[in-house]
Amino acid sequence: MSSPTVKLNSGYEMPLVGFGLWKVDNATCADTVYNAIKAGYRLFDGACDYGNEKECGEGVARAIKDGLVKREDLFIVSKLWQTFHDEDKVEPITRRQLADWQVDYFDLFLIHFPVALEYVDPSVRYPPGWHYDGDKEIRWSKATNQETWGAMEKLVEKGLARSIGVSNYQAQTLYDTFKYAKIRPATLQVELHPYLQQTELVRLAKAEGLVVTAYSSFGPTGFLELDMDRAKSVSPLMEHDAIKAMAAKHNKTPAQVLLRWATQRGIAVIPKTSRPAVMSQNLDCCSFDLDQEDMDRIAKMDLNVKFNKPTNYFPTEKLW
Ligand code: NAD
Repeated sequence: MSSPTVKLNSGYEMPLVGFGLWKVDNATCADTVYNAIKAGYRLFDGACDYGNEKECGEGVARAIKDGLVKREDLFIVSKLWQTFHDEDKVEPITRRQLADWQVDYFDLFLIHFPVALEYVDPSVRYPPGWHYDGDKEIRWSKATNQETWGAMEKLVEKGLARSIGVSNYQAQTLYDTFKYAKIRPATLQVELHPYLQQTELVRLAKAEGLVVTAYSSFGPTGFLELDMDRAKSVSPLMEHDAIKAMAAKHNKTPAQVLLRWATQRGIAVIPKTSRPAVMSQNLDCCSFDLDQEDMDRIAKMDLNVKFNKPTNYFPTEKLW
């Protein structure tokens, strides 16, 4: 089984269905990546912040050594963490992340959030997380998004990233980026599911030639793992009557309906699971089409509820 691909504005093809690596624990991560490659996944969505890039690299290296894939068959995505937004910090940390993955270029490297935090030396703590002291203290960096984007462009010039993009940007941050970008972002990765449809943002990104990647396609489900109250306050999407009815109608699972709702509109998805049977099920989410009635019904489910907010990770008063 394989995923269809979509062409990025950088000229590279990106798989529409990939594998998400957040919350994949270190002990099982190398095996999970290996099994996902075996199941047919070619895109892996990682990040410094997930704290498992070394293990991801081990899974990839084993798959290459066993002849399952070659490096060029894979599409490896990683992200720049907030404490590395200062211009002079971008390349060194990217090189470290590449070394962890045991590769010499990322297919796509994203700014994880448009929020710059004071540098924390990796020898002090890695990954650094949100807090300067590893506990409660938030310290901002003065790096602007423009400065950071310029350093991201240098990664492309040096061959360390083939494409670059952004994550957790909203319309205004995107418009700003378009003013100074010599290389336009290839993708915009945002939280996107029937409870948070982001219709206007998706329209803007597409009109400007960016491919949108949806994260947390299953809405609250991924955040239940964090015991988040907001995630418990809405009913799980996979158990929603309308989604279950569509799954029954198309002889698919609710998860496949949720993923197809995105991919049918050219939006990439990166679901996460550690179970091989579920990996195959998620990868096989483009073999049917939802009909207009389904799309209209899902359009009515928007609650404009966002689960992944920076303010989850530090007190709101720190923002002002
Ligand atoms: P997700 O929406 O993929 O949901 C994961 C949960 O759903 C897990 O509990 C898993 O066991 C369950 N699940 C997966 N497939 C299933 C199926 N077919 N049937 C039943 N249950 C199933 O959650 P996520 O981890 O929040 O998001 C996916 C990926 O998106 C992450 O791993 C990460 O790579 C990326 N992400 C990026 C950001 C960002 O800021 N850029 C933020 C969050 C997530």
